[in-house]
Amino acid sequence: MRQCDVTIIGGGPGGSTLAALLAKQGRSVCIIERDTFPRFRIGESLLPFSIDIWRETGVLQKIHDAGYIVKNGARFVVDESLEEECFWFRNGLDTDHPYAFQVQRAPFDQLLLDHARELGVEVLQPLEATGARFTADAAIVETPQGEIQSKLLCDVSGRWTFLSGRQGQRRIHPSHRKVTAFGHFRNVVRCEQDPANIIIVRFGETRMGWFWLIPFADGTTSVGVVADVGYFKDSGLGPAEFFNKSIADSRAMAPRMKQAELCGAIRTESDFSFTSDHHAGDRWIKVGDAGAFIDPIFSSGVFLSTKAAELAAGAIKAAFAINDFSAAAFAEYEAQIRHGTKVFWAFIDAFYNRDFLKQMVTSRRRPLLQKSITSLLAGDIYNQKNQLISYLTSKGGAYADKEVEALLG
Ligand SMILES: Cc1cc2nc3c(=O)[nH]c(=O)nc-3n(C[C@H](O)[C@H](O)[C@H](O)COP(=O)(O)OP(=O)(O)OC[C@H]3O[C@@H](n4cnc5c(N)ncnc54)[C@H](O)[C@@H]3O)c2cc1C
Repeated sequence: MRQCDVTIIGGGPGGSTLAALLAKQGRSVCIIERDTFPRFRIGESLLPFSIDIWRETGVLQKIHDAGYIVKNGARFVVDESLEEECFWFRNGLDTDHPYAFQVQRAPFDQLLLDHARELGVEVLQPLEATGARFTADAAIVETPQGEIQSKLLCDVSGRWTFLSGRQGQRRIHPSHRKVTAFGHFRNVVRCEQDPANIIIVRFGETRMGWFWLIPFADGTTSVGVVADVGYFKDSGLGPAEFFNKSIADSRAMAPRMKQAELCGAIRTESDFSFTSDHHAGDRWIKVGDAGAFIDPIFSSGVFLSTKAAELAAGAIKAAFAINDFSAAAFAEYEAQIRHGTKVFWAFIDAFYNRDFLKQMVTSRRRPLLQKSITSLLAGDIYNQKNQLISYLTSKGGAYADKEVEALLG
């Protein structure tokens, strides 16, 4: 039986970042990845607060050298009124995190995984984890090529939720049942203030939908529409027709897509917002999407996964120091993950509230509110100085402008 200190299921950004951090601690690490890379994955706009983590793993320079577009901010537009605001990361509460990247995930995930391999991580690929069991002393992962025994299993299997699925712990968010249709296009009109920025367009009072537009260095642009599942079903359209109709109906998107040519096919996903009852247990932890995934309006997925990898690496280091891999040893990790998810959920609920959206796109008049929003958009979610975080989390996403005005001016 193969043996190592830590087994990781999943070689996406969360898995390879966690593996790199553990390898740097001197741990023997084995990643099991089902797919052959490079492979397509959605999740292409990154956040500034991942940068420090990739600096720590030593991969940041390689990301720069690969020539990805440097993203300086995010622009939000209200489709009906065309009111809009651009949030520049350099203007956050913390001015040290001014940029991120826009990436096609196929080469990007490959780059992160290759980096982990170079640090000594054993990558078993393509290989699927088909089962897991736990004893008092070990976590044992089953694969078609035999078993792997380690002190701890880290589930970083993304929305496939290897452990949550087997534990019956995957909980779909009832009020965020969404569907998305998306593709890569040539000849899309990009953000006028800075062509490197992501654009998010919010549309519809009851349809609760939005578009993304993410530019890539090769001249193509990722464009997607997200809408309530019910609205999509009522339309009676297939994904490609739904995508085309949504674009044609949009004041902000139709002019940008007038000359657009689709490269490849329109893809689709649905019901992608969920959580699980627990993020850690005896000899296992969940990292990234494997534990929870939230509506991607704020491009938070890769950041939350890499941040969880960083927090997990700290918790695992402490667990090895006292040889305790129990749920109790990971209680603080569990609390940190819950906090991060809660912050983004509150922010997302606020985004679907028209009053907050209005405040967002007119926040230039209220500098502290704009700084606070910018920090959230950058991924600065553990910043206790950000009063908007404490406000939104205490309200569960409900929003009263007068209260925020009293707090942030
Ligand atoms: C519509 C949409 C738009 C999004 N936009 C953004 C965005 O702009 N920015 C952003 O940051 N995020 C975005 N995301 C989220 C992003 O896709 C994820 O949060 C991110 O990929 C999570 O990384 P991860 O490493 O946790 O999981 P993944 O990237 O999903 O990696 C998990 C890996 O585990 C492997 N695996 C699964 N099961 C097994 C098994 N049994 N055995 C072996 N291997 C296995 C898979 O093959 C996969 O490679 C978006 C998501 C959606 C649905």
